[in-house]
Amino acid sequence: DFANRMAERAVDVIKLLMKQGQMLKINDVIDADTAELIASEMGHTVKRVSESDVEEGLFTEVDADEAMESRPPVVTIMGHVDHGKTSLLDAIRKANVVAGEAGGITQHIGAYQVELGDQKITFIDTPGHAAFTQMRARGAKATDIVVLVVAADDGVKPQTKEAIAHAKAAGVPIIVAINKMDKPAADPTRVRTELLQDEIVVESMGGDVIDVEVSALKGTNLEKLLEMILLQAEVLELKANADRTAEGIVIEAQLDKGRGPVATVLIQKGTLRVGDILVAGAEWARVRAMLDENGNQVKEAGPSKPVEVLGFQGTPEAGDRVAVVENEARAREIVDYRQRQKREKASLHISGARGSLEQMMNRLQESGRKEFPLVIKGDVQGSVEAIVGALEKLGTDEVAARVLHAGVGGITESDVTLASASNAPIIGFNVRANKQAREAADQEGIEIRYYNIIYDLVDDIKAAMSGLLSPER
Ligand code: GDP
Repeated sequence: DFANRMAERAVDVIKLLMKQGQMLKINDVIDADTAELIASEMGHTVKRVSESDVEEGLFTEVDADEAMESRPPVVTIMGHVDHGKTSLLDAIRKANVVAGEAGGITQHIGAYQVELGDQKITFIDTPGHAAFTQMRARGAKATDIVVLVVAADDGVKPQTKEAIAHAKAAGVPIIVAINKMDKPAADPTRVRTELLQDEIVVESMGGDVIDVEVSALKGTNLEKLLEMILLQAEVLELKANADRTAEGIVIEAQLDKGRGPVATVLIQKGTLRVGDILVAGAEWARVRAMLDENGNQVKEAGPSKPVEVLGFQGTPEAGDRVAVVENEARAREIVDYRQRQKREKASLHISGARGSLEQMMNRLQESGRKEFPLVIKGDVQGSVEAIVGALEKLGTDEVAARVLHAGVGGITESDVTLASASNAPIIGFNVRANKQAREAADQEGIEIRYYNIIYDLVDDIKAAMSGLLSPER
């Protein structure tokens, strides 16, 4: 790795080490001082980068109280399947297309803003708690208020309870939207009563949780719901300083065929402008253009505004934190460091968990359970998650798929390195491998398979896994 990073041959490094009296093999670890010595001997300039050097100052700027202005609330809609989350998101959006923007083409960028009077509300456009939980697992808080949709004709269901648990765990207040009020079987009182079980006590039951009876289908009471969201937001006193370098979070990211990597960034602090240089997780961008949810170009974006950002060097991941940095050199330094950390983590994970292939086989035989390791790359976060979910379901007591890594973007050499460590095939869903990756895969004997239909992919893996099943006795 050290030789690689200097673009020197490993043997030359080892020779130099030998001259210094250190007899080492290619995978041995050397300390920083030795590395520095060797590097300068080979004519390289050494710059030490430690975690604190790199991360320091990225998210530490403190805002003065007087600089804080109120900002729009960010809302996620959760609830049981088929209770009307998507319908509600669509209905709110349609009812709110501002006259002047009606000409624009509605884009799905992962979030949108609506206006009520002179106030705005930001809705995260991926309903359900999967995305919410994933972001939270990565330490990112993107939601101020959860709207819990419960169908009036169906009542509280398992995923309603899950959503309540997630919102509570995150400490995010809930507003209940009792949906499908147009249905003859609608029974809102039953919904309110059932919610008591999960300690959601609405106002009419003597509690302090706001509830609104709506119909996404007929568009009934949507404005009232928005008013209640703003009321709740007022209580929360949501504030941010718009007059500083921007910080935010990646809501969605994908590799677009024509436009390259694009990511929807929800700004949380400060103002992002075209031309800014930002770091998002292990990727960076010089902001070439920003688009809102109506496909309009915007020059700047302030707190709580979602914008699609063009100009990324690689595809970041949903949940990655975003920060503007002073220049390109700094961005590269941070990204280099984070990518290296990512690789180290990945290789640690592998060696810690499985070791050599032989060890793996031995362990599998001992435990009687077989694992089918895989590396998965896809074009968008949504499909990657869907694939991982489907593969997890394939598992039996005897054999299970083990996803070593699942990510968005083309297949790279580092994916091959990871796969080869576990002798795992690589699956590309709507993405291809670049030249280096193809060459590395050839060399290592790693199979890369391409798919564009999830069903085909799952079917093939299922077939391959059944090959791992012990023959019937
Ligand atoms: P999701 O799974 O929670 O996103 O639910 P959807 O928005 O996909 O809605 C599920 C079904 O319920 C669809 O057939 C909708 O047309 C229907 N639906 C949603 N809202 C309403 C409503 O207010 N009234 C009625 N009658 N049907 C609704």
